[in-house]
Amino acid sequence: MSVNEAIEWVENRNPGEKEFHQAVREVFESLEPVIKKHPEYSKQKILYRIAEPERAITFRVPWEDDNGNVNINKGFRVEFNSAIGPYKGGLRFHSSVNMSILKFLGFEQILKNSLTTLPMGGGKGGSDFDPKGKSDSEVRRFCVSFMSELFRHIGPNTDVPAGDIGVGGREIGFLYGQYKKLTNRFESVLTGKNFNWGGSLIRPEATGYGCVYFCTEMLKTKGDSFKGKTVSISGSGNVAQYAAEKAIQLGAKVITLSDSDGTIHVPSGLTKQNWDFVMELKNVKRGRIEECTDAFDCEFHKNEKPWKFDADIALPCATQNEIDGKDAKMLLNNGCIAVAEGANMPSTPEAINAYLAAKIFFGPAKAANAGGVATSGLEMAQNHVGLSWSREEVDKQLHNIMVNIHSSCINASKKYGFEGNYAAGANIAGFIKVADSMIDQGIW
Ligand code: NDP
Repeated sequence: MSVNEAIEWVENRNPGEKEFHQAVREVFESLEPVIKKHPEYSKQKILYRIAEPERAITFRVPWEDDNGNVNINKGFRVEFNSAIGPYKGGLRFHSSVNMSILKFLGFEQILKNSLTTLPMGGGKGGSDFDPKGKSDSEVRRFCVSFMSELFRHIGPNTDVPAGDIGVGGREIGFLYGQYKKLTNRFESVLTGKNFNWGGSLIRPEATGYGCVYFCTEMLKTKGDSFKGKTVSISGSGNVAQYAAEKAIQLGAKVITLSDSDGTIHVPSGLTKQNWDFVMELKNVKRGRIEECTDAFDCEFHKNEKPWKFDADIALPCATQNEIDGKDAKMLLNNGCIAVAEGANMPSTPEAINAYLAAKIFFGPAKAANAGGVATSGLEMAQNHVGLSWSREEVDKQLHNIMVNIHSSCINASKKYGFEGNYAAGANIAGFIKVADSMIDQGIW
């Protein structure tokens, strides 16, 4: 079995699923030396099996809007791989959601969850419903309808969804309420819950903080740090908010945030007061990033991405393929020394090639943003023993996990001839554990 044959097989079998093809190609190409060294993976057709979801469910989600109109959305859950634990991965509510996007996310999730060292398989789900501009009541009615089907497929030892784009604390609350009503069970079936009813402290912060912790480890290898660095961040949702907070705490100057309307540029760097304003704007008022121009000194660049501004470090925290080859060149020309991905697959293959050719630090999503799911794993552990750990305890564990993921990437990349390439290291380290577990468990 050659890697190229496996890629071709996946592409032919899943026509038109371009995001899924992109994710599979990126991973498989870095597995070439692993497949050569382990003939058992070829014999057992692991590349073919790992790229086929164990189960992919689609369902109808009808709901009534505030004007009494009936709307119909698509619901999905891709239960991709349970070799090392129950399916685990977020739910995304966004108009762009389709099977290709969820399969790319679910596939990445398998390897990411493996890297955390916690017992979690890979899954992802969501809907083409967009909560933007909907009232709280509309979002609640949608969530109730979505869970009225999803509940029969999930469970604390089967499949444990969390949040992602468009699914935050409000949505997790509505979804959990309906799960409980239908099953009459209070159990750890979702993560990202509010602390009062079983959530973990630091879970909201975990993906953004973890991304900055991972980037700190990369910088440390050259005796460098965030202190005094200029940082561009894209997005202004959950991941971007806490990446910004941690970078500021570590002495960096955060000069951009964005949403799908455009980018704010804050040349002097976001202050704590500016950050508080963004938190209120995005999480309570559910407003647009442009509104920051009314509140503090910044410029709004409509329909522009953050990558044209001079920055030492880029933290893409919005969505897939938000840095293309041209953006990457711009970042490099503007002095960027590190990119750590808070979002999933935010860099196109051309962008990744540009980072690797320039030999800057590149922390790939499945390593750099694994802090979110790792802390979801810690939330499940707390739920199982009926305890809540302190902020300090969870943050310490999150930090250790990110340090260990960094070491795993370095070790695997060295062992297989990709020294300095964290992307290859993350793919290899994540893959081997899942592949070996699949072989242990027979042919399924
Ligand atoms: P949120 O919904 O909280 O925020 C998403 C942000 O990205 C918003 O500012 C949104 O702007 C912007 N955005 C979304 N789509 C686009 C687009 N097509 N073009 C431009 N901007 C866009 O999501 P999260 O912060 O939770 O997730 C962000 C990324 O991080 C995603 O890739 C997600 O998969 C990844 N991730 C999230 C984890 C988590 O724990 N939440 C864990 C690991 C990865 P607007 O409001 O205008 O749409």
